[in-house]
Amino acid sequence: MGERPVITHQFDAVIVGAGGAGLMGALWLVQPFEQSSAKKKPTIAVVSKLYPTRSHTGAAQGGIGAALGNLENDSWEWHMFDTVKGSDYLADQDAVEIMCREAIETVYELEHWGLPFNRTPDGKIDQRRFGGHTRELGKGPVRRSCYAADRTGHMILQTLYQQCLKHEVTFFDEFHLMDLLMAGDRCVGLVALEIATGALHVFQTKAVLLATGGFGRMYQITSNAHALTGDGVALAYQRGIPLEDMEFFQFHPTGIYKMGILLSEAARGEGGILRNGEGEQFMQRYAATLLDLAPRDMISRSIYLEIRAGRGVNGQDYVLLDLTHLGRKVIESKLPDITDFVRTYLGIDPVKAPIPIQPTAHYAMGGIPTNVRGQVILDAQGTSAPGLYAAGECACVSVHGANRLGTNSLVDILVFGRRAGRAIAESLDTLKAPPLPKNPEAPIREKIAQLFDSRGTERVATIRSELQQVMMDHVSVFREASGLTQAQEKIQALKSRMARVTLSDRGLQFNTELLEALELVNLLALAEVTAACALIRQESRGAHFREDFPKRDDGQWLKHTLATRAQDGSIQFSFKSVSITRFAPQERKY
Ligand SMILES: Cc1cc2nc3c(=O)[nH]c(=O)nc-3n(C[C@H](O)[C@H](O)[C@H](O)COP(=O)(O)OP(=O)(O)OC[C@H]3O[C@@H](n4cnc5c(N)ncnc54)[C@H](O)[C@@H]3O)c2cc1C
Repeated sequence: MGERPVITHQFDAVIVGAGGAGLMGALWLVQPFEQSSAKKKPTIAVVSKLYPTRSHTGAAQGGIGAALGNLENDSWEWHMFDTVKGSDYLADQDAVEIMCREAIETVYELEHWGLPFNRTPDGKIDQRRFGGHTRELGKGPVRRSCYAADRTGHMILQTLYQQCLKHEVTFFDEFHLMDLLMAGDRCVGLVALEIATGALHVFQTKAVLLATGGFGRMYQITSNAHALTGDGVALAYQRGIPLEDMEFFQFHPTGIYKMGILLSEAARGEGGILRNGEGEQFMQRYAATLLDLAPRDMISRSIYLEIRAGRGVNGQDYVLLDLTHLGRKVIESKLPDITDFVRTYLGIDPVKAPIPIQPTAHYAMGGIPTNVRGQVILDAQGTSAPGLYAAGECACVSVHGANRLGTNSLVDILVFGRRAGRAIAESLDTLKAPPLPKNPEAPIREKIAQLFDSRGTERVATIRSELQQVMMDHVSVFREASGLTQAQEKIQALKSRMARVTLSDRGLQFNTELLEALELVNLLALAEVTAACALIRQESRGAHFREDFPKRDDGQWLKHTLATRAQDGSIQFSFKSVSITRFAPQERKY
């Protein structure tokens, strides 16, 4: 094996992640400078472990929510109300207001950049229904989701990537973030590994924007792509940044049974119905007004309650998504991709037969805490970490609180990706590039050497699947103290076993085995924090349902959790208040 080379770069700003959040951040960093000749365009780089258009944003199906009111009356206030209620009142309302207002101009911006939205007969952007989105503060469903068939994310990602190429953004494709370089609370750069060669690249910069996406891969049944291992979140945590609201992880109601592959909520937006083993539309029992378009946390719980009551299909642990009454034309034109998935993976034609589904781990509401400018914050008072920004699913601003509504992630990543880009652009004059620590890549070399030197008998794949199983068993839709404690013990045991992992590939080039090991270290850290936060929150709110504390408790728990890694590796908790501006917490009925 040859020497591992080290290459150093300098940029004004470096963005990690080329999904919707990262690309939008990049565009808003360069665009304003191109429009004015007064200032020199900053040098920026986008570092991504995936080729940009493979980012998970490209898998988003159903749509992006914005109160355009193209088909029926709508307003950003109603969108805001739905988002706050959907969040079980834990979202910060100042941030939600910004998101719902700016969603509208953001969608028009995408349209002007050429995104091929579905259209109404008179040429406006078409809109469809989605869970939890209502008119007049909950009176009935509203058509708010702007979409391009069931390939909305694909279109967004392609559109943004084309714009980035037009604006000559520099990309480092297939570079894996390994470490953040900090001088105290100041972020001064990062270290990434070039996957093709194994070289380490040190980036010195004034500002880093983390846009590394989610971490659904800590669960066995998930809609998330293999790359979603929360690297940015875990590395920030490792470097002393707190993580916010990690106990809230969303299970989407309709994953393909046993596979977790997502069948978009758009299927129910177009009129699809969930049925139990007796053929009953069981949501009538749980959400009399919105039925199958109730928010995801409620529907996922309802599915499990049906299964527990013995009303799964043939007594098994799944129910059915029925599209058969929609007819071939709607199914094939409005939902072409998921129709393909069902035909390919299940051999079922959704035009003719209902589809077996089960809830699938989908979305991290928690993450790296930020303010509405995308600056990472270090404590409950909102002290920011100079030079460090985060946006997208890895961040927690928090617009989704305890439960995200469908279509609101695409809004979040774009609105706050844009804001972070703009905030960095504005700060570049005042931010100086501080000196790097000596041998900045030394901790990473050591980490790699440890993995290469280990001669134990453990394998990455075994530890990962045991982790995914325990998270599924004890830290998913229903939780209680003894299960969470068992999960914590198991995660600790898996962490110790990680020290005895052996890698068979010790080479430099395309060493995916090494990268998978490092990703697993990240997943273990995030699973540990998730289980600990779930144990500490003794109430039920949104996606976090404690069977031993089944009620929401605003007196004690209307607050955000911050989990910080102490020097000795243990987790310290603190709490941050919720911003409540327009809508006082109420009972959540749908
Ligand atoms: C199947 C599916 C369907 C969905 N449908 C919808 C929908 O219809 N509407 C909606 O609002 N939301 C939807 N969501 C959620 C939404 O798509 C995501 O939350 C959102 O796209 C995340 O965007 P992002 O930019 O934060 O991250 P991503 O798009 O996940 O991008 C993450 C980026 O980070 C990079 N990265 C990660 N780790 C590293 C590392 N170590 N080093 C370097 N780079 C790294 C990756 O290469 C990638 O470029 C869906 C999600 C899934 C999984």
